[in-house]
Amino acid sequence: MPLYEYRCCSCRETFEALVFGGEQPECPECHSVELQRLMSLPAAPREETAKASCRSEGPPCGPVCGRWGK
Ligand SMILES: [Zn+2]
Repeated sequence: MPLYEYRCCSCRETFEALVFGGEQPECPECHSVELQRLMSLPAAPREETAKASCRSEGPPCGPVCGRWGK
């Protein structure tokens, strides 16, 4: 699910928004659409995805792989 964290450029509010198919989220505080997408998302959802797609054979698929560094 496309969950992103945004910071409002107007009031500096930070919030998470689900964004579907090019939909433009807006600030829940001031309803501005001047938003900056933050890259410091919690790793949990992506980690789950990586683990789910990682095959048990072969090398670890990446740093978020449950078998990385073992
Ligand atoms: Zn705002």
